[in-house]
Amino acid sequence: MSRVMVTGGAGYIGSHVVKLLGEYGYDVLVYDDMSNGNPWAVLYGDLVEGNVGDEGKVSKVLKEFSPDIVLHFAAFIQVNESVNDPIKYYENNTLNTLRLIKTMLKNGVNKLIFSSTAAVYGIPSDLPVKEEHPLSPINPYGQSKTFVELMLKDISYAMGLKYISLRYFNVAGADPECKIGQAYRESTHLITRALKTAKGEYEKLQIFGTDYPTKDGTCIRDYIHVMDLAEAHILAMEYLNEYNKGNVFNCGYGHGFTVKEVVDMAKEVTRVDFLVEETDRREGDPPELVADSSKIKRELEWKPKYDDLEFIIKTAWEWEKKFSSQ
Ligand code: UDP
Repeated sequence: MSRVMVTGGAGYIGSHVVKLLGEYGYDVLVYDDMSNGNPWAVLYGDLVEGNVGDEGKVSKVLKEFSPDIVLHFAAFIQVNESVNDPIKYYENNTLNTLRLIKTMLKNGVNKLIFSSTAAVYGIPSDLPVKEEHPLSPINPYGQSKTFVELMLKDISYAMGLKYISLRYFNVAGADPECKIGQAYRESTHLITRALKTAKGEYEKLQIFGTDYPTKDGTCIRDYIHVMDLAEAHILAMEYLNEYNKGNVFNCGYGHGFTVKEVVDMAKEVTRVDFLVEETDRREGDPPELVADSSKIKRELEWKPKYDDLEFIIKTAWEWEKKFSSQ
């Protein structure tokens, strides 16, 4: 398996995976509608501009490039936005993914790695959360991804699609070489928000809720470095090649940090004592979301290299400083 089409490859996670694919010597083609992507983030392969729901364009690309597999990152990812504009999420994340799969199968491409999310679990009843946990998303973003997971099962059964869904936990950090990183001007994610506050882009960082049933009252999340996640994609591709069947894996380290612990580490790394304000809970936040990652470690032999909050925040900080100067 050497030819890889990457949808959303000009975005945050996709571009890190493209970098790793390029370094490993894969032939890459990036397909991105550039709604959130940046051309400079694509370090390997050609970049074709288009939406995954455009069956004509996707067909043309599949015929010309003839990939062995598609890695599908292209999606909208903002929970709040999905609550206010669910149609946008169901259309782009669900319907357009269905169109992509249909076009792939029509063109004889039957391998897919799908970017799923821990949001499919909603508020988990058991922690750390295992892949078998019921899918019970609590917002349209998580629901839009859950629908795809359900479709994948049926399509795989009936039409021979081979797929892996990777359920990402809290992806953070940047390329340790600092060539690429998260390039959103506005981000609602904790680490990016904290670093932008340290940089002076925001006056203060708000902590959403200090009365959760956790050790310091703030929410716990499993932060995973984006390059470890990228490596998981390479292993998933190899697995799909060897076993030729569908599967689902959590992508997290299996332990979490509270919001306060993240904020303290961000202050330590940046050496900026930025202003923090404790406010009410944000709607729809589960108190704790931590992966049981034993399956991916066992079956894909995934060996994370950057399971270190300080390193995650350091790489994000180096990138954040560089990004503003671009
Ligand atoms: N959070 C916060 N302040 C912020 C952004 C996030 O307190 O400015 C909290 C949020 O409530 C959650 C955790 O940080 O408990 C992680 O949020 P993020 O948006 O980064 O990821 P999510 O877990 O929602 O996907």
